[in-house]
This record gives sequence, structure tokens and C-alpha cells, in this order.
Amino acid sequence: MRKPKIVVLGAGYGGLVTVTRLQKALSVDEANIVLVNKNDYHYETTWLHEASAGTLHHDRVRYDVDAVINRSKVEFIRAEVQDIKPEEKKVILNTGEVDYDYLVVALGGESETFGIEGLKEHAFTISNVNTARQLRDHIEFQFATYANEEEKKEERLTFVVGGAGFTGIEFLGELANRVPELCKEYDIDYSKVRIYCVEAAPMVLPGFDPELVKYAVAQLEKKGVEFKIGTPIKGATETGIIVAKDEDETEEIKAGTVVWAAGVRGSSIIEKSGIENMRARVKVNPDLRAPNHDDIFVIGDCSLIINEEINRPYPPTAQIAMQQGETCARNIVKLVKGEGDLETFTPHLKGTVCSLGDDDAIGVVFDKKLTGTKASFMKKMVDNRALFLIGGPSLVLKKGKFNVL
Ligand code: FAD
Repeated sequence: MRKPKIVVLGAGYGGLVTVTRLQKALSVDEANIVLVNKNDYHYETTWLHEASAGTLHHDRVRYDVDAVINRSKVEFIRAEVQDIKPEEKKVILNTGEVDYDYLVVALGGESETFGIEGLKEHAFTISNVNTARQLRDHIEFQFATYANEEEKKEERLTFVVGGAGFTGIEFLGELANRVPELCKEYDIDYSKVRIYCVEAAPMVLPGFDPELVKYAVAQLEKKGVEFKIGTPIKGATETGIIVAKDEDETEEIKAGTVVWAAGVRGSSIIEKSGIENMRARVKVNPDLRAPNHDDIFVIGDCSLIINEEINRPYPPTAQIAMQQGETCARNIVKLVKGEGDLETFTPHLKGTVCSLGDDDAIGVVFDKKLTGTKASFMKKMVDNRALFLIGGPSLVLKKGKFNVL
């Protein structure tokens, strides 16, 4: 009998949990497992704000895919996915094509600029190892150039972060810790630096406990971050950003660095494929399959699942992507083995911790509110747990965070 071919697209949190579970549950006689990823490494997306600010080297946030997959059971193709052809059951890669019997789309998310003019051209994003390296180098370049130029451009040392959500706040925490180091390194007076957080919504970290948000804002303000809340960004230019001043007027904030951290959408590959989607995310069936495509599972940031309690989508998180990977793998094993009804995916949220730099954080873990070093310790445990779930204790020992305060 012909063995089914399972193709997993993306070696992020969702994709790697799926593959590591499949390689354990299925023998080589039962299925062919193929993993496709742009790079030969996985990166911890949830650590990218650190690499972007330069507080953690980019090599610390990535590890080889080979460290966690069993090559005798899984074929790894390093390639870029360009399109999915559901009718022909095949995936188009930059290096050729691959056909499938079951497909798992775990390609993660992309930055969403909501059509705001100039953002794509002039703002940095925190999306992958390449964007992180570029942003870190750019920040350092601004300090080095300021120190060296005769006619000082003050705006060179102004940093704008668009978005006071999770990514924006975590990046601000790292940046606020990095700036004093850079000032010292380049002999620059700290008072020359401005760090703005510009947010259109009327609050910081929407959905987070208000008491914890107050703590986070106070801590970041103490480190020099200035919040401009309820201030929509109207555009970005070569010299900074344009924000709404009031209903009719706008003003420019001149800045040498603009970081856009205010929106995530699914993968553009989903939109291209013709699979039904909303902002490149697929509202999946309870068993994680795409509507009208019984052979395609969609997980992680490419998927959309509704929190029935509040009738709103769950925010895309690594926590959910990894849990979906577990369910997705079990459901594929059931299909391969002909074992009856597929499992329904239900997220089990254990809490959320938002870092404010390496030394501080806020969080709610098992309904308990945490701040400061306790929250920061929890954050490191959460980061280490993600490594453990994919690569076991050896990966934690190799890449884990042990600089507990
Ligand atoms: P990812 O883990 O992003 O992986 C996608 C993979 O697909 C990557 O390996 C990528 O290279 C590959 N890929 C993409 N396109 C292609 C292509 N065309 N061809 C081939 N390969 C491709 N979530 C939390 O739960 N807790 C947190 O504390 C947290 N902090 C965050 C901090 C930051 C700075 C950011 C940016 C996000 C954070 N998140 C957090 C969100 C979390 O990182 C995402 O929800 C999670 O990464 C989604 O997992 P995924 O498996 O869908 O995709």
C-alpha cells in the first residue's frame, strides 16, 4: 500500500511541535514526513525583541532544525514556499515542487501595516533573525554616527516604537536597557536620547490587568520612555513619523529609527493559495483543518480560532501554536491509522508574561499576578519550556536562559 506523505510548512513553534510528535508516533513504514522551511534553523520568535535591541546575540535565539528532527524519519527541504495549490495537492517552492496527502501550514505571521503610508519603506519590524540583525546594527550605527558627526543631528538619537501591544512593550524594555550601555560606549550624554511609544488605542497592553499595565508604564517611564497614547500614526517618512494631533491636524516626530510593532497578519502564502481567509488567517474547523479542505491543517499565526467566552479571536501566540501542533499531530496520526473521529482543539492558557527588559516583567500565571524579578524569572521559565517541548532537556541545556536574577 502507498504510504501517505505528510508535508509540514514552517519550522516555527507550531511546525516543529507537529513534526517532533509525528516522528515519534509514526514509523517509516506508515508515512513519509517532509518538513519545509526557509532556513536550516528555527528561531525563537518570542525572543526576537532581545536580538533586535542587541541585548541578546542573534545566535542565541536560533538553533539548527537538525538538532530536533530525526533525519531517518523526516526529510528536510530548505526552501521558500511560494504557493499552495490545494486542487493539485502540491506546494510550489523556489527550488521546485512537493506533493502531499496531508499538509500542515505553519508559516507564522507577517507584519500588518494597515495601509499606513510609508511604514513598509521606512519602518523596521521585529519579524525574523534578519530583521533583528538589521535593527540592532541600525541602532548602533545611529550612536556611532552621532558620536562622529560634526553637525550633530539630534533626531538621530530619537527612537519611535509604533504599538504598545506585547511586541512593542517587550522591545521597549530591551531598548531602554540597551541605550545607557550605548551611551557609555559612544560617550554620549543620555539626555540626548528620546524614546517614544506611539499607540493609537487609548491604552497600553490592551487585555492585560490594569494594575500590571500601570506598573509596566511606570517602570518604562522611569527608564526614559515617553508614551503617546491615543495617537494614531498617519504615515512614516525618511525623517520620522506623522501623527494625528487632533481631528484635523497632524504633526511630525523626527526620528532616526521607527519600529513598527503594532500588527500581525497571517502568511501571504495563505492569501495566494485561495484558501478562505481573513487577513491571511484561516478560521479553522475545530479539528484544525481548513474549511472545505480535509487534507489541509492550518496552525499557529496562520490560523484563527474564536474564544467563545468573549466571541473574539484568540491573539496569536507561541503558546497556542505549540498546543495546536500537539493536536494537529494526533489528528494526522488518526487519519493515517484510520482511527476514527478527530480531536477538537481547545487552548489551555497557562498565563501570560510580558518582559520589561532582562530584569523586569509583568505577568499573570495560573491566575496569580506577578511583577519584577518574580515575573522575570517566570518569563525565563516560559522561554525554557518552549525549548523543552520541542527539543527536550538537551536543548534547554544548550540554548536555555539561566541568568536568573
Ligand atoms: P513561527 O514560530 O513564527 O514560525 C514560522 C516559520 O515559518 C519560521 O521558521 C519561518 O522562517 C517559516 N516561514 C515563513 N514563511 C516561509 C516561507 N514562505 N517559506 C518557508 N518557510 C517560511 N507569543 C507568546 O506566546 N508569548 C510571548 O511571550 C510572545 N512574545 C513575542 C515577542 C515578539 C517580539 C514577537 C514578534 C512575538 C511574540 N509572541 C509571543 C508571538 C509568537 O511569537 C507567535 O505567535 C508564534 O511565533 C507563532 O508561531 P508559528 O508556529 O505560527 O510561527
